[in-house]
Amino acid sequence: DRAAPRVGEHHAAPHTRRHHTAPYESEISDLLARMTLDEKLGQLQQLAWAADTGPGDDQAHLVGRAARAGGLGSVLNLHGARATNDLQRVAVEESRLGIPLVFGMDVVHGFRTTFPISLAQAASFDPDIAEREARISAEEARSAGVHWAFSPMMDVTAEPRWGRISESCGEDPCLTAAFATAKIRGYQGAGAGRIPRDRMAACAKHFVGYGAVEGGREYNTVDVSESRLRNLHLPPFRAAVEAGVATVMAAFNTVSGVPAHANARTLTDILKRDWGFGGVVVSDWTGVAELVPHGFAADLAHAARLALGAGVDMEMVSTCFADHGARLLADGRLTADRLDDAVARVLRLKFRLGLFDNPYTDERTEITAPSAHARRAARAAAARSMVLLKNERGALPLPRDAASIAVVGPFAESTDLNGAWAGPGADAFPAVTMADGIRHAVPGAKIRCAKGVDPEGKDTSGIAAAVAAAEVSDVTVVVVGEPAALSGEGGSRSAVGLPGEQDRLVAAIAGTGRPCVVVLTCGRPLALGDWLDAVPAVLVAWHPGLEAGHALADVLFGAVDPGARLPVSFPRTTGQIPIAYNHENTGRPCGPGPQPPRYGSRYLDLDHGPRFPFGHGLGYTTFELGRPTVDTTALTAQALLEGATVTASVTVTNTGARAGDEVVQLYIHDPVASLVQPVRRLRAFRRIHLPAGRSTTVNFTLGAEDFGFWTNCPEGEFLVEPGDIHIHLSTGSRTTTTGCTLTVK
Ligand code: BGC
Repeated sequence: DRAAPRVGEHHAAPHTRRHHTAPYESEISDLLARMTLDEKLGQLQQLAWAADTGPGDDQAHLVGRAARAGGLGSVLNLHGARATNDLQRVAVEESRLGIPLVFGMDVVHGFRTTFPISLAQAASFDPDIAEREARISAEEARSAGVHWAFSPMMDVTAEPRWGRISESCGEDPCLTAAFATAKIRGYQGAGAGRIPRDRMAACAKHFVGYGAVEGGREYNTVDVSESRLRNLHLPPFRAAVEAGVATVMAAFNTVSGVPAHANARTLTDILKRDWGFGGVVVSDWTGVAELVPHGFAADLAHAARLALGAGVDMEMVSTCFADHGARLLADGRLTADRLDDAVARVLRLKFRLGLFDNPYTDERTEITAPSAHARRAARAAAARSMVLLKNERGALPLPRDAASIAVVGPFAESTDLNGAWAGPGADAFPAVTMADGIRHAVPGAKIRCAKGVDPEGKDTSGIAAAVAAAEVSDVTVVVVGEPAALSGEGGSRSAVGLPGEQDRLVAAIAGTGRPCVVVLTCGRPLALGDWLDAVPAVLVAWHPGLEAGHALADVLFGAVDPGARLPVSFPRTTGQIPIAYNHENTGRPCGPGPQPPRYGSRYLDLDHGPRFPFGHGLGYTTFELGRPTVDTTALTAQALLEGATVTASVTVTNTGARAGDEVVQLYIHDPVASLVQPVRRLRAFRRIHLPAGRSTTVNFTLGAEDFGFWTNCPEGEFLVEPGDIHIHLSTGSRTTTTGCTLTVK
């Protein structure tokens, strides 16, 4: 353990060491003592089941044989109670030791029931919806024989060009940690113990830094300072380990020159030693073999040695460990202890899941369709995720007695609303279209639909029909955005505007001068066209999942107050990226200052600041924050490091005419520090619901973690420095705030 915190000007926070000792450690030792080398290496192998192969095909044969010889630990992408049981029976009844397989899959935002994408869920600022989603996903997936979700993805990212931003919780580590831990509770249940039979193991991914890929280009280089790594990218993972996450997945990228799969410092020193992570580190898909094209390993044997040595325990898809492990062990390049440690971690996962007690799935209770309860949860999650960016001239909510509504745009009648990582349910149960949702909500209205343009097409001849529909309707809802295929893995874009000719469609509708509302369905922040000034209302619906249209109607007609806020800033143009709210101060701030604006940190050809900042979002009512108070105005750094806390309180009043939701956001700013600090850091938030005219007091408890920061010391040094710390409370990262100060002595 590290030395006790130093008292003086700086204080180093002690690392937590949390080795999860479980009741099955003696069973694990017994098994290890009986296993052959091949059986041990087999446990470290995960193979993929290709969806189009069945029994008798080469792959099925291969997997079956590996399982029979005890040469396989895990299979990914096989689901269905019968299919998983068939393969499990081979491993359990035909292999020498009968060690069960663990079946894994990307259960990211739904299994049978498709929920909104993770970025949308984060926009809700309501982690309970993520917990509920993961719980429902786990019930559905586990009933189909899937034990292990490769989720939550917790890469912090301010990179809209990167397609995987859709899987993330956006640009803030505090928001990401809250959602990631909520999802882990939903998948696994609370704590680090036994995972119940209707839950599944979670996987914190991708460790680490993937969200900082240069230029937003998929799989690209990541070069991060130690302080950024520790202040921005690591905190959600640390929170995940503290929440008892069963597994962690290594990232495809390098971390400052060392591929994450061969990075002993991040995988072993930080994750396993300092944080005491006792679970499985799984590689990403062929991530071990990719050490060769990275130019880090000379060959696949070298790759195996580097990855195992660095702390990867299980290899996904490539077979470097299985092919070369024995030789590495024989010539001393792999230690028997490290091999046993990796195997013990895999066995521990299987014990945690109860697979040794009952490796099979009840084929009679498989959930094959979304239940009414799951649909209701998906609808509520989607409605609670939609962000109202702009609402002028009382454009929204729409009147329920509208006689006619035009629903136009390439996504008006499209079912491409499920997002990039929808599960097997998405094919069988297509999303409710936006037009159908509106039709259902206002059955008396005449609904006119026109596509206008294709999402990515160049043909504009359909715009005339959309304009004609708008001209004869009371109001037009224009649904534009991105197909799911433009986000997710491999979905990087060099420009983040609306694809194809969709800007022209929106401009043409706005040009009619008729009332209209723009709905964006997207997996990333978009740089919006000049039409933005001409339209009165813009709502971000993201990729909302199965209940898309119903959820949209809930928000459009005011059954649900749009209380979601942006989890990531929307840039004005692609060239402005990255434009995260939590950037650091420069010596030449961009706001008003002593120097002429030309010499501020800004672009000559662009207004400063994002188009819409992190935390932004409107509702149908108004809220006011009172002056916040703190229960202590001064504390020593030592007291904070020893666990003292500060409670900040603020009164929130619904000053409007209807009930609604607000997200109270607490940011801190440390104005003078030995490491240049972000202009703001979100440290806490709460989504509240209040009837018109009512007030409530919101309390936030803050501690050392909230006021201090990690330095650039490679061994990890956490400081709480003396001085004033400003605490801001707001309803948006750049909206007017109210604040108070804590003095650290
Ligand atoms: C992705 C992971 C995913 C894995 C298995 C990889 O390509 O990066 O996030 O879990 O595939 O499908």
